[in-house]
Amino acid sequence: MGKLARKRVVLKISGEGLCRPETTGIDAEELQRIAAEIRTIVDQGVQLALVVGGGNIVRGNELAQKIDIPAASAHYMGMLGTIINALAVQEVLESLGIETRVQSAISVTSVAENFVRRRAIRHLEKGRVVIFAGGTGNPFVTTDTCAALRASEIGADVLFKATKVDGIYSADPKTHPDAVRHDQMTYNDFIDGRLKVMDLTAIVMCQENRIPVVVFNVKQAGNMLRVVRGERVGTLVSEQANV
Ligand code: UDP
Repeated sequence: MGKLARKRVVLKISGEGLCRPETTGIDAEELQRIAAEIRTIVDQGVQLALVVGGGNIVRGNELAQKIDIPAASAHYMGMLGTIINALAVQEVLESLGIETRVQSAISVTSVAENFVRRRAIRHLEKGRVVIFAGGTGNPFVTTDTCAALRASEIGADVLFKATKVDGIYSADPKTHPDAVRHDQMTYNDFIDGRLKVMDLTAIVMCQENRIPVVVFNVKQAGNMLRVVRGERVGTLVSEQANV
């Protein structure tokens, strides 16, 4: 076990990490692939907490635009989607011999523990992977905010945001082919640039609690281990740009 042992990290996995590009739901191969990647970092001895998104099932904002229901209900549906994902991730991690606990912000005690901060920390100290489900339990925010919140609560050293893009760009690379990827930037650069890759609330919370954030592409094999080892992958958002 190397110098990473006992480092406490929060890894946010977006729902898109569990399905193939441009699809929805859960894909068996993608799920296995991501679990195998997670195993590589568990093997490093880090204390690992996962926050699982739900965008592969329901995003509240998008659903409320499609069907005529109150936005708050659509967001609750999104939060329930994260619980479905968390149970899938739990099962596949356990099948790889990794001990896990799911803690949900929405009470579903037949399938998961309720979120209890001190209990979550105890699980981490015992070497269990804690999977935070149900988002924050409140509508109108996303699981990025949940990840920042949980990272702040459990005193995480760093927040990794695993997503389908390979970092933070100066503009949306789909519509701006000349957009450049930042290797690193400050929280204030992110906030001033009104960048969309992560919630503003999440970044502000990380800034206040001095938690560095790394945004990286989860679809590239080996990235998870690289990022946890501190290699330059994706974009680092922190207090100082030149660290
Ligand atoms: N959500 C919410 N409150 C939370 C977390 C999530 O209302 O604290 C809802 C929100 O509608 C969000 C959906 O759950 O769009 C799924 O989460 P998210 O979009 O963060 O998933 P990801 O894009 O990471 O897969």
